[in-house]
Amino acid sequence: MITGSPGARITHSPLPQADWRQLWRDAITDGRELLELLGLSHLAERLPAADAGFALRVPRGFATRMRAGDACDPLLLQVLPQLAELEQVSGFVTDAVGDLAAREAQGVLHKYQGRALLIASGSCAVNCRYCFRRHFPYGEEMAAAGQWRQALDHIRQDSSINELILSGGDPLALATGKLEELSHGLADIPHVTRLRIHTRLPVVLPERIDGPFVTWLKALPLQKVVVLHVNHANEFDDSVDMACARLREAGATLLNQSVLLKGINDDADILAALSERMFAAGVLPYYLHQLDRVQGAAHFEVTDVQAQSLIERLRGRLPGYLVPKLVREVGGDPSKRPL
Ligand SMILES: *Cc1c(COP(=O)(O)O)cnc(C)c1O
Ligand code: SF4
Repeated sequence: MITGSPGARITHSPLPQADWRQLWRDAITDGRELLELLGLSHLAERLPAADAGFALRVPRGFATRMRAGDACDPLLLQVLPQLAELEQVSGFVTDAVGDLAAREAQGVLHKYQGRALLIASGSCAVNCRYCFRRHFPYGEEMAAAGQWRQALDHIRQDSSINELILSGGDPLALATGKLEELSHGLADIPHVTRLRIHTRLPVVLPERIDGPFVTWLKALPLQKVVVLHVNHANEFDDSVDMACARLREAGATLLNQSVLLKGINDDADILAALSERMFAAGVLPYYLHQLDRVQGAAHFEVTDVQAQSLIERLRGRLPGYLVPKLVREVGGDPSKRPL
């Protein structure tokens, strides 16, 4: 960081110049270690013995934003495996949103008019316990593994698609070189005018938004939207603000979608603070999702009645542009369903 006289413009990023791939590999994957770091070792005996195929995973920088000594920390609860995940609850299934039915080509999900979603990567820097894709057969669907061609052929042949959505997993798990391959492939598909990236990396591993990535994004001759997935204001810190600033400087519109999660953000004060905090980082709220009813996530569910009352209270205290749209994804619907 450049220091200078008070009020001098900071022209260099204060982000540590650590290699994001190294930070990715250094993520905490042992629940005992995470609890120990937070002074919560006594909770280790409550960790499930088996992880049901979905291991704990959290980057160290994200863990530093958790409050030491607080077993109910809203960031900790998003990543810590719980015994409740092992309970079978009726109505909670492995393919909660009909992804398998919507598959049109290798790695392409085409559910809604004008938008095609590419499963660009199967990996995530963080494993979120409520994730609706925790049971999705990533291995087979990864468009990244040299499979761009089939996915892009599909999009090229359907001129109704004007927006390509990169999702996953986390699409920014891909090396920037892979993203360059994708944008070369898009160059001869004129009907795609918008690229949308759904990612949690600018928040859980903000170092990912490094120089080469920003150069790539800035040079893309498309409109760019980046949808962050933040659930609680505490997920923001200076490094996240900087990542957001860099994305905006590269020409991206920043939106956020959250999942309504019991014990984490099912409270009007917390949701209002989240909207205010994201706006301070230049991010507008987009969706507040009702939880997808995925097996192992039932303990996070908030009823529709509670969800609607929370949104009403937000409307009563925030400007309209800071109130997210409350929606649920229903398999087979032509759009997300407003509640
Ligand atoms: C959610 C989703 C989209 C995006 O929907 P928007 O309402 O435009 O945000 C697109 N494709 C698929 C398959 C989706 O699940
Ligand atoms: S897909 Fe998103 S919600 Fe699911 S584990 Fe990855 S980052 Fe978390």
